[in-house]
Amino acid sequence: MKYLCLLFVFLLVFTVLVSFTVLAEGDIGNILPGNSDSSSPADSVQAFKNYLVKDESETSEISETSETPETAAAKNADDEKQIFIKVLDSKSGAVSTVDLEEYLCGVVFSEMPSSFEIEALKAQAVTARSFCVYRMLYSTQEIRDFHKGADICNDPKHCEDYISYGEACDKYGEDYVKPLWDKVKNAVDATKGEIITYQSEPAVAVFHAMSGKETESAENVWGSPIPYLISVPSEEDSRQSEIKNYITQSKFTPDEFKSDLTSNGFAADFSESPESWTSNIALDSSGRVASAEICGEAITGIRLREIFALRSTDFTLEYDGENEEFVFTVAGYGHGVGMSQYGANLMAEDGKNYIDILLWYYTGVEITPDYKFF
Ligand SMILES: [Zn+2]
Repeated sequence: MKYLCLLFVFLLVFTVLVSFTVLAEGDIGNILPGNSDSSSPADSVQAFKNYLVKDESETSEISETSETPETAAAKNADDEKQIFIKVLDSKSGAVSTVDLEEYLCGVVFSEMPSSFEIEALKAQAVTARSFCVYRMLYSTQEIRDFHKGADICNDPKHCEDYISYGEACDKYGEDYVKPLWDKVKNAVDATKGEIITYQSEPAVAVFHAMSGKETESAENVWGSPIPYLISVPSEEDSRQSEIKNYITQSKFTPDEFKSDLTSNGFAADFSESPESWTSNIALDSSGRVASAEICGEAITGIRLREIFALRSTDFTLEYDGENEEFVFTVAGYGHGVGMSQYGANLMAEDGKNYIDILLWYYTGVEITPDYKFF
């Protein structure tokens, strides 16, 4: 019991940090054009705080656009309970109340390529539903204020990306959207009401686009361990030929390298030649860069990722003397914690079902009906 209480407090404290970074990273975009930008990593507490400050300075109108019940969760008598979620449109400031299962179709459609295997889409539906329930139950007042009283927002950098069927059709055309939407809806319907729990509490079901050889532990990213978010093997590295842009490179001239660092508050003596600037690159337990030294000053892999907009901390950094440039060679995409979306798709291609996928990426969890919590 004591452990459960501690876990609960911990989850409350870290809700903001974990859920934000996670879901932002989970946004790998969609095969549709014009989807939300998934290229800006935001793995730090400071990034989140900056974001909050920026939003709080803005004023936006709140309008109820639905006549569905006032409360976010509407209770029925049995497991057919219909749960409603209040969704803030971050751009317009409008709040609408949407049936949770209907809402999830718009989330999965936005967060994972609809071309993925159905079992991967089902796994995504359960992670998205888990996050919704977590937000509905455990949001701090700070998050509620940020959401203008709603449970969740549609900003992928803060919560989950979301588009309604009507909006998707207006944007991309119904002929294009309908078959993809039907596939996503099948995935949502097939997992109706299912969420991920750990020791009977809703889990923070974070996810990311693609891992390297292993997923990352929550502890290595956010500094505190979460028992079900530990490192597990993932297949992307061994099957990288099957994944477009698994490896990416970012190159910087010495001037750009120095300027990007110093403009982000990193102070060091860059007077020596560039060949000697980087040293002591240390890897964490999952093989990602934990820290490095630049001109003798320590910097974390996460900070390097932020400054140079790298797709992950799973990178090598070398100086190419011939071309006079620093070269980051990066594997995967995202913070690496929780379910890998591409890894889930590879597992699905191998015949694994969504339960197999979820139990693989979230250690020691169970799949539980969400109505138990409302
Ligand atoms: Zn939000």
